[in-house]
Amino acid sequence: MEIGIRLFRSVILGLAGNPAAAALSRKYGMKLGAARFVAGQTRDEALNRAQELNAKQLVVTMDHLGEGVRTDNEADGYKTEYCALIAAMKERGIQGNVSLKPTQMGLALHEERTYERIRTIVKTAAGCGMFVRLDMEDSPYTDKTLRIVAKLRTEGLTNVGPVIQAYLRRSDHDLKSLTSSRVNVRLVKGAYKEPARIAYPKRGDVDSNFKRLIRSRLDSGVYTAIATHDEKIIDWVKAYVKRRCIPNSAFEFQMLYGIRTPLQLSLAEQGYTVRSYVPYGTMWYPYFVRRLAERPANVGFVVRSLLKR
Ligand code: FAD
Repeated sequence: MEIGIRLFRSVILGLAGNPAAAALSRKYGMKLGAARFVAGQTRDEALNRAQELNAKQLVVTMDHLGEGVRTDNEADGYKTEYCALIAAMKERGIQGNVSLKPTQMGLALHEERTYERIRTIVKTAAGCGMFVRLDMEDSPYTDKTLRIVAKLRTEGLTNVGPVIQAYLRRSDHDLKSLTSSRVNVRLVKGAYKEPARIAYPKRGDVDSNFKRLIRSRLDSGVYTAIATHDEKIIDWVKAYVKRRCIPNSAFEFQMLYGIRTPLQLSLAEQGYTVRSYVPYGTMWYPYFVRRLAERPANVGFVVRSLLKR
């Protein structure tokens, strides 16, 4: 069973970087069922969705989809979009922050220029009292992403933090250093295809490491986002914080737009901070494929969406 799921993930994640599959999916557009996971193709549509979520007591983190850009022009365009997004969120009074992918800002091209673009966004956000999350991508970018966060902080820009992936063997070490600098971190299981040399291949080991990392953060008192739809882990967190008298203000739960919505609402009703990750834009294909890889049933959902038309 475990081997079957690993093979399924590996095949589906292989499609995320496949240009022919990407072109085919663009042709069929949102008909593939991507609308379930993507809040809209335009900023305005996504802001409307964010306001609806705010009205239901969910805060948001907004993501303009795009990754692995190949030119500086493209990366500059994404930077401009993020600055406009932050301004629009402030104008509409949206309760939330933004998440961005470093390769969208050009990390596969040039680290220094990427740094400059992210710095502009983080400064714009600081002016609006907003936080910026740097999503964590595949392992060639782990060190570079952490370096960018560290450098921003040396410039006094503390409204920024990275993501730590529990499937990576190195994460305990990375997290310790971030905790000692009191950096706001999002913890996740990890969504990319990584070799066993650097990542735990077994789900059980990833889950155990995830809990270990969560526990160390909750014990430290440094604000932490726990991003998962795994109800067993969420229940475990709830029990742990209760036992240790850790206040709800020390952490938040995060989930993706369109996934486990009733659970998001129920946690918010129970008094936990719940942040919904709201992606939008036309470059939704790799994001969508990662969502399929996380749950075999989602592939059935896509097939059913196609058959319905
Ligand atoms: P799983 O064990 O995978 O799932 C638990 C249960 O949740 C499943 O049984 C299912 O019922 C439900 N579920 C999970 N995924 C789906 C899905 N796609 N569709 C429907 N139901 C589902 N990963 C990164 O590598 N870098 C990041 O920066 C990053 N940021 C993230 C931000 C947020 C807010 C979230 C929620 C996830 C992020 N991830 C990121 C993805 C993460 O690494 C996992 O791949 C993803 O969350 C699935 O793992 P899980 O913890 O939900 O647990």
